[in-house]
Amino acid sequence: MKLSKLFTKTLREAPSDETAKNARLLIRGGFVSKVMAGVYEYLPFGLRVLNKINNIIREEMDVVGGQELNMSVFQNKEIWQATGRWDSAKEVMYQFKDNFNKDQGLGFTHEEPIAATARHFISSYKDLPKAVYQIQTKFRNEARAKSGLLRGREFLMKDLYSFHADQNDLDEYYEKVADAYSRIFERVGVSAVRTFASGGLFSKYSDEFQVVADIGEDTIYVNEKENRAVNKEVYNEDVLADLKWNKSNLTERSSIEVGNIFKLGTKFSEPLGLTYTDADGNLRPVIMASYGIGPGRLMGTVVEVSCDEEGIIWPENIAPYKVHLISLEQNKKADKVYDDLANSGAEVLYDDREDKTAGEKFADADLIGCPIRIVVSKKTLEKESVELKLRNEKDFKLVKLSDISQSL
Ligand code: ATP
Ligand code: MG
Repeated sequence: MKLSKLFTKTLREAPSDETAKNARLLIRGGFVSKVMAGVYEYLPFGLRVLNKINNIIREEMDVVGGQELNMSVFQNKEIWQATGRWDSAKEVMYQFKDNFNKDQGLGFTHEEPIAATARHFISSYKDLPKAVYQIQTKFRNEARAKSGLLRGREFLMKDLYSFHADQNDLDEYYEKVADAYSRIFERVGVSAVRTFASGGLFSKYSDEFQVVADIGEDTIYVNEKENRAVNKEVYNEDVLADLKWNKSNLTERSSIEVGNIFKLGTKFSEPLGLTYTDADGNLRPVIMASYGIGPGRLMGTVVEVSCDEEGIIWPENIAPYKVHLISLEQNKKADKVYDDLANSGAEVLYDDREDKTAGEKFADADLIGCPIRIVVSKKTLEKESVELKLRNEKDFKLVKLSDISQSL
């Protein structure tokens, strides 16, 4: 991609009403654009990052046998009334009347509709287990949408739902998904700690995946030795005794919840009539679990924990481009470096702009945050070389023109 052709431009200043570091850097870099509080557009750079995150998630969902689908945003009031959530979730769920005076709702999660749809396909123990997921836009009437991508009113969620005949099967599958979650966060490049959180009806705890960060709205107590934590929401003497944890080994931290996995039991299957016939001919409710990740929140979290004064420092797996190539010389040498790199399959952003100073180009490279910066200048060309610097390091080295591809 040539910067001279790019749809977006970097901005020197972030909007003054935007306080969250993730949003300020992402807006300045041209990754997202703010539409209103809690609503952002993903611009070309931002979409590249988001798609890389989503693809990592997809690969790991495939490993646990998840089948991708895409459900509707519009919600059928009747099925939400069946579980009581049309009323109990009123504060978070967007609900309104359309021009025909019909009640409409927008999905903020999809347990009800997926249980309703599963009724068409699950009727026997032979149909179980099953797991489906989507990466889809949710709407929530969030009261405090001040943290940039961390808390959207319109935001992307990966939601996986699994269906089981019995508790053992669910417990085993749940652990597989927890492992998949750990792999996802590791591959994305953040360190997320599995955290005991409030479990609801069916299990003692749910599991959240929390990333330690100052801006985080959650408070967790981290057990470094076990690489586990407990959310303040459930933290008390009884829980500590239950986990056999000693208070003195725990550190209190602010954190961002990037994922949450839940055993739902029969909370949704029973009221919605999602049942199966077991091997002895008895009718039983299907046992369910749900597993969420916010890809947009995850992207914002990466920026929060991986940046400096100058800009973003993208982990390689989700960087918009691997290489940021800067030309400080108006000749065809840099063009050739770009073509060679692109032909070798490297993802390269090429600052070929002729109306920018070296300082402006360096500042943009730091702001955008690609892992490798390569500079082609008169000085480097005298040595048949380019200057190569990693975004997260200070020093650069000279690399021979002929050796660039191998040095990436
Ligand atoms: P929170 O407590 O932070 O509001 P939640 O517990 O309501 O989140 P879940 O319903 O468990 O969130 O949603 C699953 C995942 O979706 C969360 O772990 C988070 O990564 C993401 N998510 C939830 N709400 C938002 C939001 N408003 N904006 C962006 N991502 C979100
Ligand atoms: Mg949650």
